Amino acid sequence: ERALEAIRKMLSLEALVRRDGQRISVAAEDLVPGDIVFLQSGDKVPADLRLIEIKNLQIDEAVLTGESVAVEKSPAPVEDEAVIGDRTCLAFSGTFVSYGQGIGVVTATGGDTEIGRINRMLSEVEELTTPLLRQIAGFGRTLTAGILGIGLVTFLVGFFFRGYEFGEIFLAVVGLAVAAIPEGLPAIITITLAIGVQRMATRKSIIRRLPAVETLGSVSVICSDKTGTLTRNEMMVRAVVTPAGRYEVTGAGYAPTGDILRDDKAVDVEQHGDLMEIVRAGLLCNDAVLRRGEDAEWKLEGDPTEGALVTLAMKASLNVNDLGKDYPRTDSIPFESEHRFMATLHHNHSGNAYIYLKGAPERVLGMCAKQRTADGDTEFDAEKWREVFQGIARQGQRLLALAVSAVPQEKRDLEFGDVQDDMVFLGVVGIMDPPREEAINAVKECHSGRIRVKMITGDHALTAVSIATQLGIGDGETVLTGEELEKMSDEELAGRVSDVDVFARTSPEHKLRLVRALQAGDQVVAMTGDGVNDAPALKQSNVGVAMGIKGTEVSKQASEMVLVDDNFASITAAVKEGRTVYDNIKKAILFILPTNGGQAFTIIAAIAFGMTLPITPVQILWVNMVTAVTLALALAFEPMEPGVMRRPPRRPKQPLLSGFGIWRIGFVSALLVATTFGFFTWEYARESSIELARATAVNALVVGQIFYLFSSRFILEPSLSWRALTGNRYVLGAIGLIVLFQLAFTYLPPVQHLFGTEGLALATWGKLILAGLGIFILVEIEKAIFRKCGKAPDRV
Ligand code: ATP
Repeated sequence: ERALEAIRKMLSLEALVRRDGQRISVAAEDLVPGDIVFLQSGDKVPADLRLIEIKNLQIDEAVLTGESVAVEKSPAPVEDEAVIGDRTCLAFSGTFVSYGQGIGVVTATGGDTEIGRINRMLSEVEELTTPLLRQIAGFGRTLTAGILGIGLVTFLVGFFFRGYEFGEIFLAVVGLAVAAIPEGLPAIITITLAIGVQRMATRKSIIRRLPAVETLGSVSVICSDKTGTLTRNEMMVRAVVTPAGRYEVTGAGYAPTGDILRDDKAVDVEQHGDLMEIVRAGLLCNDAVLRRGEDAEWKLEGDPTEGALVTLAMKASLNVNDLGKDYPRTDSIPFESEHRFMATLHHNHSGNAYIYLKGAPERVLGMCAKQRTADGDTEFDAEKWREVFQGIARQGQRLLALAVSAVPQEKRDLEFGDVQDDMVFLGVVGIMDPPREEAINAVKECHSGRIRVKMITGDHALTAVSIATQLGIGDGETVLTGEELEKMSDEELAGRVSDVDVFARTSPEHKLRLVRALQAGDQVVAMTGDGVNDAPALKQSNVGVAMGIKGTEVSKQASEMVLVDDNFASITAAVKEGRTVYDNIKKAILFILPTNGGQAFTIIAAIAFGMTLPITPVQILWVNMVTAVTLALALAFEPMEPGVMRRPPRRPKQPLLSGFGIWRIGFVSALLVATTFGFFTWEYARESSIELARATAVNALVVGQIFYLFSSRFILEPSLSWRALTGNRYVLGAIGLIVLFQLAFTYLPPVQHLFGTEGLALATWGKLILAGLGIFILVEIEKAIFRKCGKAPDRV
């Protein structure tokens, strides 16, 4: 639990504040009353705030008030007596911004906040249970019922037909129950899961809910956002097309080094009014800030798409700071992926007011009535521009169209109605966002593990197909757009969804329909998301994956897993770990259950033959709780098998133990019974003391376990190799520890007294080791036979 807690702390809340005149992000616990905090949709409010400025701010206060409808906020004061739900001028810590933006002053933090005061736990305590653990618990109950039944029969047989004393047979039956129940198994499974979670954290995926570890192993479809997850999210403007002509831009990243070319010659931006205007529009309708860090690297704060426009403006030698001062912003409509545009209102010092707009070109086309050319504003040919857009999109660039309109000076508020239809089109920019190298490999790996990768993006269909093709997703032409998707019924979509891998111009609610359609076809879906509106799709998917860097608090809250680096490759790494965890749990089960089987059958056999018990109940507890657990724990650290991504995902309903598993447990149980029982009768027949015979039997069992542990490292692969012997140092460590334990168990007088044992002769050890080696060889032969019969590891 502590391991998981530490990992969860990695997801601590951040707040955007103004300090020393600069917007910076600080940890929520470092906030103090008086801090100015910026809120935007998707944020979790980091402290109690008095709102001083808002833009369409709506906050979901369900955690505090239970009211599921978001509350519209306003800076206007409210009545003194207003109850919490009516205090619309406050934003409360722990609630979620569902829409709009706002600025507030911190009035209370931590325990002094409303939520702190009413002493509600903000983060609900995670229950440490998973479907697998529940399956095990169910298995345990069936086992217990079975054992009670067998115990009763054994008791009756022993007491009435074999002439045992009541006390003796009672103890024997208790011993049988203790022997058959794998007491250590739940602990091993929980620990294996927790180790999986820790391993995933080192590979940049943080698991928020434990069951996700198992589910990851059976994921059959990964739906991923494009921007930033599959691509690098380091955007650079490559092309600018205005009504007057086409420009190419050179350079790399956000550094403002590079030229703007026309016909392969660098242009003087002053000479090209069209270019100047579109660049200026891009800079004004923009919230991103580029700063030069101490290492001389250019760092972006804000949206990468907008960062690319700032770099473009710098390449065009525009003075970024002066422009903002000359055209101060009066109001804005922020970008949201539903409406796909952003608009700002500016008033310059000569008394003119302008609206600047940028957004997805199809959106912007519909809002424009004219276009700006060198000879003034002329008629606008939407069809011609559509072709231009397609040309840029085909090269895999994302499109952003820009427009402007002059408005009366009195205009102070910007509404949706102001950008409906009379904007003047300035042109379009094509932005490069290359695929991540590691994502290309990760997609390949997914395909080899028979996991379908689907790309879901808000971008243009042609941009999407081009990038998808570079990543190896889809067939290079099939694409379904949000518009087409909207026209389909759920059934039609369910029929189509398995053939299409690229979804373009989608909005967040389409994601929810996609997940449902995939799940209707029995797929186990992992879905990525970052915005507030992605939350329903993240919740619906089997594994919701939120972005650690650009993801909103709401999306993280709704997801099972958070990617620290927003990188698609980390999902694949997590899936691999998920499969490994499941493998390791299976290995641990196949290792531990034969011990129980071996002991239980030894006791049943003894009673059936009317013999003294070869192992006493305390000795059984020793074997189950000490030796079996210590050895099995080493399997939790088993490294990933090389073929882990070359087999299909596990079917979620697949039972824990297949027919093969039951065979293996029965087979090894029989081998362990043979050695344990064999050594006991051999030693007893030599007229040794019962203590010595029992000590020999227990040691035979433990030596058998030690040898079987090497075999258990691979379910079907051979263990006759140097790698099998040394590949997991925890195995060697566990064996070293068990050897010490067994020596104490056998030779240390107080322990001898406790467990009723006696020291073994040296020669006996030689025989025990030979017997152990025999078990190892027989299991290896069994593996070889199954491999020969073509048994695939994933069917195990
Ligand atoms: P995904 O992460 O799902 O791939 P996306 O980044 O491709 O998402 P959105 O962010 O919804 O999708 O962007 C969709 C379109 O909206 C873009 O193709 C672009 O034309 C436009 N757009 C993106 N960012 C902005 C912005 N800051 N201002 C104006 N328009 C934008």
